[in-house]
Formats: sequence, C-alpha cells, structure tokens
Amino acid sequence: EEEVDSRVYCICQTLYDDEKIMVACDKCDEWYHTECVQLSEQVVELVDKFYCPKC
Ligand SMILES: [Zn+2]
Ligand SMILES: [Zn+2]
Repeated sequence: EEEVDSRVYCICQTLYDDEKIMVACDKCDEWYHTECVQLSEQVVELVDKFYCPKC
C-alpha cells in the first residue's frame, strides 16, 4: 500500500494529485499531467491516442 501511495507520475515526478487532469500514454501506459505535456483539457477529449514525450 505504501508503495502505491508513494508512486510518482509524469515527467515532473510528483505524487498523484486529483486536482490535476491526467492523460495516459497509449504506448507505455504511464500517466501524465496535461499541463506537463502541453495538452489542454479540451484537446485530450478530442485525441483518441496520446503518446508521451518518451514514446
Ligand atoms: Zn506533471
Ligand atoms: Zn509513453
């Protein structure tokens, strides 16, 4: 449980924050903040596939 709670996400390496909108990469399944990958909330709803900077 502790391990899950301390997991960091995104390129900014921060803990999960439900205030921020996140998007999952379709290739590696990692989660990223829309603001960190320069996607707006509106764009996320329109794109059917998202690939993170690493992919
Ligand atoms: Zn981030
Ligand atoms: Zn990826």
